[in-house]
Amino acid sequence: MNEPISSKNKFAISVMGPPGSGKGTQAQILAGGLEAFHFVTSVEGKKYIAAHDDPETKRQEVRYKKGLLFESPWTLRVVQEKTQRVFEDGLSIVYDGSPRTPLEAEKLIPFLIKLFGKECVVAVELKVGEAELRSRLSKRRVCSLDHSHAFIDSENHHIGDLCPKMDGGVLQKREIDESALFETRMGEFRNLTIPAIEFFHKEDVLIVINGEQSIENVRRDIDEAFAKRFGKRWPRGV
Ligand SMILES: [Zn+2]
Repeated sequence: MNEPISSKNKFAISVMGPPGSGKGTQAQILAGGLEAFHFVTSVEGKKYIAAHDDPETKRQEVRYKKGLLFESPWTLRVVQEKTQRVFEDGLSIVYDGSPRTPLEAEKLIPFLIKLFGKECVVAVELKVGEAELRSRLSKRRVCSLDHSHAFIDSENHHIGDLCPKMDGGVLQKREIDESALFETRMGEFRNLTIPAIEFFHKEDVLIVINGEQSIENVRRDIDEAFAKRFGKRWPRGV
């Protein structure tokens, strides 16, 4: 019996890596090419907070306002509920740095495999050494109006330039202590996210990519690795 041929495969892709590895950029490129849902945990967490007023959600709102990360059991709830809806809408999903902890990974990965099928679940780990991350950090510029608009100082992005997102903001150095924040985020990555990535490895759904390359070459390597893994199901050039 022939398998029904679907013109559109649905993928669940998690882009993982340390702070400054370029995972946000690659997740955005993949989501754009696949017309997938681009899942950014902080954004979905904020939306969830706006729509719910149970005590647990209220507690996460307080944490968020203090600059603390969301706690894992609640994050997992937000991720699973949204993933379920995206799946029912018939879309692929690209996670930007999620799951972040072993607890999230342990629960989320079987959930994704059950929904999307193991052959359509994959994580990409962008490997970037700490020396390179520190060098990138020193060149990081953020928008004066929205610090999620972050760019690397280069020919096109200098301090004082208008934000490329054209919101009227101006590129500047981040005011907070970049190196202290980096150490905190790097510590979280080492202690929590590396063990989380290990869960993908155990399921044999992990692809490791050299992240110390240009955005274009990282994109190309991901595309080649996915074509190898997914075969004809992967739309080349995404
Ligand atoms: Zn901006």
